[in-house]
Amino acid sequence: MFKTELLHVFNTKNINTELEYFSELLKKYQKKPEVCAYCGKPILFRDFVRQYDQDRKYCSKNCYTLSKKEFKPVKSGFSSITEEVIYNFLVQNYPDQKIRHNVTDIINPYELDFVIDKYKLVIEFNGRLHYVNKYGDKRGRRTKLNDTKKKKMLLMQGYCVCRLWSEIGLYTRPDLFQKALLTLKEQIDKCLKNPQRCGQAIDILVSIDENINIIKDSVKSA
Ligand SMILES: [Zn+2]
Repeated sequence: MFKTELLHVFNTKNINTELEYFSELLKKYQKKPEVCAYCGKPILFRDFVRQYDQDRKYCSKNCYTLSKKEFKPVKSGFSSITEEVIYNFLVQNYPDQKIRHNVTDIINPYELDFVIDKYKLVIEFNGRLHYVNKYGDKRGRRTKLNDTKKKKMLLMQGYCVCRLWSEIGLYTRPDLFQKALLTLKEQIDKCLKNPQRCGQAIDILVSIDENINIIKDSVKSA
């Protein structure tokens, strides 16, 4: 008898905890529905719950498959194949410049994707996950803080910072990727030609609807 009662209490407790957990998830979701790590569209709550412990969540099997290509780990020390393509693009377009990759000796411990020391130029790529997370969890907030701090430190030291951000996967969208790279090149060229460029940040944002926007910022407002 006692045993049954105890079991009953225990079970109720379990259910309550689960319900609480579930309604907390729902609240979190309603506040800001999670978006697909590949296409950027909101994910259904059902799919959100199913993928709750995943860093990257997807709206469909198709997006998951395409994203696998996008985030394919590469052996060459690049964090993604997209980053590797950007590096190759820079090397091809600026053959006379020494371009360093994964640079940590400028604002240690922060890592910078690409640096052309001669022109005090920093080029950064922030892929999908990175960008989404700046609104998201604690780790994401830290990422945003790091990015803001990094930018400020670089501008104070007279660096020009060109950053490419994308809300959607670029590697599996070759036309858009090409357009984004050409926009990046245009901005880099402007930086290299302008003697007053020091302390300027240029953000190139690729949005979910495949538009490319350029936002400029200088040392005063950083
Ligand atoms: Zn999707």
